[in-house]
Amino acid sequence: MLPVRSRMKQIKVRFAPSPTGPLHIGGARSALFNYLFARNQGGKMLLRIEDTDLERSSLEYEREIVESLSWLGIDWDEGIDVGGDNGPYRQTERLDTYQRYVDQLLRTGHAYHCFCTEEELARERQALLEKGEIVAYSGKCRDLNPEERERKLRQGFVPTVRFRVAPGEEIVVNDLVRGTVTFDSSEIGDFIIVKSDGIPTYNFAVVVDDHEMGITHVIRAEEHLSNTPRQLLIYRALGFEIPEFAHISLILGKDRQKMSKRHGATSIIQYRESGYLPEAVFNFLALLGWSPEGEQEILGRDEIIRQFSLSRVAKNPAVFDLDKLNWLNAQHIKRKSMTELGEMLKPYLKNSPYWHNVEQMDRATYEVLVEAVRERIVCLVDVVKEVETFFAPPQYDGDTISRLEQPEVKGMLQGLLEHLPDRLDLEQARSFMKGLPKALQLPAKQVYMPIRLALTGSPQGPELPYLLVVMGVPEVRRRIAGLIGHR
Ligand code: GLU
Repeated sequence: MLPVRSRMKQIKVRFAPSPTGPLHIGGARSALFNYLFARNQGGKMLLRIEDTDLERSSLEYEREIVESLSWLGIDWDEGIDVGGDNGPYRQTERLDTYQRYVDQLLRTGHAYHCFCTEEELARERQALLEKGEIVAYSGKCRDLNPEERERKLRQGFVPTVRFRVAPGEEIVVNDLVRGTVTFDSSEIGDFIIVKSDGIPTYNFAVVVDDHEMGITHVIRAEEHLSNTPRQLLIYRALGFEIPEFAHISLILGKDRQKMSKRHGATSIIQYRESGYLPEAVFNFLALLGWSPEGEQEILGRDEIIRQFSLSRVAKNPAVFDLDKLNWLNAQHIKRKSMTELGEMLKPYLKNSPYWHNVEQMDRATYEVLVEAVRERIVCLVDVVKEVETFFAPPQYDGDTISRLEQPEVKGMLQGLLEHLPDRLDLEQARSFMKGLPKALQLPAKQVYMPIRLALTGSPQGPELPYLLVVMGVPEVRRRIAGLIGHR
């Protein structure tokens, strides 16, 4: 059951990427689960950019993330690009807001200035590691007296701000996916909330923003579970209402290792470029950790939104299976109308050496081409290879040549030329091919395979009627005449 607060307040979730790289599978899955939850619950979705890592963040990555989300069909009601009442939505533009809360924490004694240098801290850490003890801050600056602090500041030392953590406390995270998870505050130690350059750390900024932006549910990757106790302490110190948390499982490769480039492309843009359909990637991502109630796994966006529920998000790791994505993609391609798929294929066909053949086709013939390849492609980019069958000069291997040189085969091909009308649409090509063995008074197997070999040099490929229509009768005649004439 949802807690009372959530029933009263409008549900609001957020996706809060750090623009330090392109949107990858894991990030996209987090964004998607937030989006699905919001849309299923009639709530709001927000996009915030967490760019406090000044060195690694860039506007280009931010653009790329926004583009990838839009390509997937994920939209948001508030945040970057769309605006809203709680902006700005880039953390580096919110420093004044953080400062107000830092001042509050300093005033109330929940935080203090720390003058320890990087080198001192590194030495301290090393010593603890060597002794096999918990690595947490010693608390050296915790109780500096005010005079001492003023003196350091006057001397030009630039402090960090640390959050004071009372040891020996049990901190309980009630997670909608993982259940109750308990942490020991002694293992946390006083942690930094503002770095010496004045930039807040993730754990602090995320709490301030989620509060200020009215976030009711924090749905994010499991790797942030260990940050949650720190965040809970900040919520409490600032007197903020605590949102619900849902930490979704890691994504592993089929070999059960953490998902990496070895298991397939990791960035969403790469899937787009290879000709995966956004609805297939959307469908695939939704199944990474969530499962629908029924057997049907090929689902459209609206259906996934309708069915989505956090209670069906699994606790155990999700497994990234590229074969499954390929299968889903082929299925979603088959669901497209010829016209729609035709348009989607064009950008890929433009990269084919046979684009000029395609460009010259009339609309009806182009749709036959689309229909012919639709069943055969897994990704849109595969169309480039597929059209070679129609337009590349056929290559015959030794076996094929000896087969085509047999007198009865030559005779059959001659017969084909005599019966072949000058123009054929798909329906006519189908009935022509169907009736051909009878017209030639030959069994089907002595007709179809030799024709296919003669036209393309390959025993596999699209159905013959497709070949006839897309190649066009003149080209069919030319290829066959060439074969009979030369041999
Ligand atoms: N900026 C964090 C990340 O990209 C967001 C974590 C969160 O959702 O709290 O991992």
